Amino acid sequence: MTGDGQAWLIRNARPLGGVPTDLLLNDGFIVAAGRGLSAVGAQVMDAADLVALPGLVDLHTHLREPGREDAETVQTGTQAAALGGFTAVHAMANTEPVADTAGVVEQIWRLGAQAGVCDVRPVGAVTAGLDGSRLAELGAMADSAARVRVFSDDGRCVSDAVLMRRALEYVKAFDGVIAQHAQEPRLTDGAQVNEGEISGVLGLTGWPAVAEEAIIARDCLLAAHVGSALHVCHVSTAGSVEIIRWAKSKGWRVTAEVTPHHLLLTDDLAVSYDPIYKVNPPLRTHADVEALRAGLADGTIDCVATDHAPHAAEDKETEWQVAAFGMTGLETALRVVHAAMVETGLLDWAGVADRMSARPAAIGRLDGSGTLGASGSLEAGAAPLHGRPIEPGSPANLVLYDPAASSTVDPAGHASRSRNSPFAGMVLPGQVVATFLRGTPTVLDGKLAR
Ligand SMILES: [Zn+2]
Ligand SMILES: [Zn+2]
Repeated sequence: MTGDGQAWLIRNARPLGGVPTDLLLNDGFIVAAGRGLSAVGAQVMDAADLVALPGLVDLHTHLREPGREDAETVQTGTQAAALGGFTAVHAMANTEPVADTAGVVEQIWRLGAQAGVCDVRPVGAVTAGLDGSRLAELGAMADSAARVRVFSDDGRCVSDAVLMRRALEYVKAFDGVIAQHAQEPRLTDGAQVNEGEISGVLGLTGWPAVAEEAIIARDCLLAAHVGSALHVCHVSTAGSVEIIRWAKSKGWRVTAEVTPHHLLLTDDLAVSYDPIYKVNPPLRTHADVEALRAGLADGTIDCVATDHAPHAAEDKETEWQVAAFGMTGLETALRVVHAAMVETGLLDWAGVADRMSARPAAIGRLDGSGTLGASGSLEAGAAPLHGRPIEPGSPANLVLYDPAASSTVDPAGHASRSRNSPFAGMVLPGQVVATFLRGTPTVLDGKLAR
């Protein structure tokens, strides 16, 4: 699937927010860039005042298929991704059945290829059935057609230190990475909201920062001890940022992500008792949000990952105590980062491209480095390239974004099958105008193109 044969001439786009230029896309690649390009037979798109970014890459998406197709499918989830400007998403393993064998990850990979609107990279489970007692078939998943390189029990923590060590050792053979959902289970038994002033006011069981930070500290030490690669999912506390900063200063192979919601929302929203704000890890304090923004700005936190977690209405629109944890995020991620990081002057558009495309592509082994091999196309045995610079020779994975737009978030208009967006009713800046996957538009004029 390398384009549909139709060439596109994009006029006056601003790569990374810089000076306007024309981009010519053909046969899946950017083939020319410069002022005043012309191409006979090409479709022409006027992109004046639009920022061009490399297609976004999400390291952390829950697509729910197989098993919970009432909440999301690979088709609807990848459509939501395309509308958010993504050209690749990593699909978490906590499906039913769990993605813990070559067969299941290949099924998810094939469903993504069939949907065709966004590359789907399956994440493999670390432990069989996510039960935390024995390693899943990591090598078989790595060798499968899905070429899995990221492994995670996300939703659950690999809390057993011996298993975590073994997993880190195992993936070294094929340049894999273990993505940890850092949550010490005993310290969070029955936890509902951030432990602090708000949990006291609400009378809900608190979720202490140390439950996250203790696991991150342990895993950084384990990764250093075995010389392997650790990725920390959804960092949510100021203390976690400090620990990761320290681990990186030692030169250890530790990377980290933060979600859009943890960059913008705080735990005082829980005062409403509206479970739309119930999420794992929980929303934290203003001081935590400030530290997360600073950590993302200075590169301590490598990237933004959505943790898009769609839930059917019956699981979410209920009492706080029994409601499911999680929020949707694919369709609003870039706009939230715009509000939290760009409008505040903490990142420019080049920084956004780095944190939402280049770095997550590198962590997911989609940037052409490492042992995976890569190609512009979508073949078994090689990974599609993402996160590359906007220049001739790169695959034509692009998002065109209108930074001057602004609108109220309405989940009723989202492609996701679920409606649990915490940003519903909020005015957010920006609008994804177009997304191109290997030269073929998946979104045009802000709407699905295919
Ligand atoms: Zn998680
Ligand atoms: Zn998750």
